[in-house]
Amino acid sequence: MTTLKAVRGTRDLLPPETELWNHVEAIARRVFSRYNFGEIRTPVFEDTSLFARGVGEETDIVSKEMYTWEDRARAQSEKAQSLTLRPENTAGVVRAYIEHKLGETGLLQKLYSIGPQFRRERPQKGRYRQFWQIGAEVIGPPSAGSESPLRDAEVLQMLAAYLDELGIEGWRLEISSVGSAADRARYTAALREALAPVKHRMCEDNQRRAETNPLRVLDSKDENDQEIINALPNIADYLDEDSKAHFAAVLAALDRCGVRYHINPRLVRGLDYYTRTTFEFTHGGLSPQRASSPGAPILGAQNALLGGGRYDGLSEALGGPKAPGIGFAIGEDRLILTLQSQQQQSAPLADAFIAPLSADLNPAALELARELRRAGLRIELGDGAFRLKKSFEIANKLARKIVLLGEDELASGMLTVKDFASGEQVKVARGELANALGRVESVEIG
Ligand code: AMP
Repeated sequence: MTTLKAVRGTRDLLPPETELWNHVEAIARRVFSRYNFGEIRTPVFEDTSLFARGVGEETDIVSKEMYTWEDRARAQSEKAQSLTLRPENTAGVVRAYIEHKLGETGLLQKLYSIGPQFRRERPQKGRYRQFWQIGAEVIGPPSAGSESPLRDAEVLQMLAAYLDELGIEGWRLEISSVGSAADRARYTAALREALAPVKHRMCEDNQRRAETNPLRVLDSKDENDQEIINALPNIADYLDEDSKAHFAAVLAALDRCGVRYHINPRLVRGLDYYTRTTFEFTHGGLSPQRASSPGAPILGAQNALLGGGRYDGLSEALGGPKAPGIGFAIGEDRLILTLQSQQQQSAPLADAFIAPLSADLNPAALELARELRRAGLRIELGDGAFRLKKSFEIANKLARKIVLLGEDELASGMLTVKDFASGEQVKVARGELANALGRVESVEIG
């Protein structure tokens, strides 16, 4: 029989790596709450038309990468429906904003979310078919200040604070403005015109993009096409006065709070809904030299840690009220890869391993473990069927200390505790045990 494996492009996350995932998520929750964001959880699948209308029919995501199926009617009350596993989260959040009439509060909605997304992309390092995003959106009626450049700057500043607090070293913020919907339309027309006489010299993908979605040509990594791409018109020359002033105000606010950025007029993002500010945080770091891959890029060819931007027209495109907004999606898988390259991770040790000295003592050992866990300690429980030597071997791998529980210990209430780092063995009264185990002796290294 063939053994079953996780589907291509998906993977299992195991301990101790999951500790790091929880840490990354805990810091996100902590930082975002300081900015007064609340959590939203939307379904992992939605009506296909949400993404077609929200993300854009011509984007790679919608045209090539979605997991879509026809969900047949099960009961008379249900209709057959085309459903799609969410490839990104903003469309779902804006759908929820409209559905729950959150705009009627008159307040800005500041929502964050953490969860898996699905795209049928070619898997490679840092690119998976199920991947995790930590995203956030600020959306509301214009009267709530949702269009203000201050919102853009605040979101960017929050991201800088998050990456710093997480300890990501060497990130780089690239920023641009793609202008209003009208600016974008004029720029797209100019690109189309500039591409018309030269596109036949470009790769097949770019020839197609030049027709269907010329902005995507700017994003092309095809080396032979770079000369043509570099000579294309610049978005900055197509912004109207309002868009220019908006962008300048975002940059001024970033300057004021010391967030460094690089203006990159070639920054186009893969989703159609963006207006005005768009950005990416990249990480071009190389992994430490190893024999197998000396100095390879940590994120492979995928150097974007996160991306985002404004989507002032998205709510209306989905049939909702006018609700400008700005948001981002952090690639959690890529954050983890970056953090792993910066530090060696080892499994956390339990505070103690409890070793019952006979199988009869198992219930008493479970009771002792419960006591200590209630006191907040991380406890691993052995088994009285183990020989003492085996208990010591396992305990040494999993815990800082071992607690021996024999008939004598149970009767006298004095337990034998051995500290693996110091080699010290002491007797501790049961009432004092939690305290004694909680103390982490400083260990001299070297
Ligand atoms: P996007 O939704 O395309 O703007 O992507 C936002 C971020 O999600 C990117 O900067 C990546 O960090 C991450 N991301 C996008 N697609 C993938 C993928 N297939 N695998 C892993 N991370 C991804």
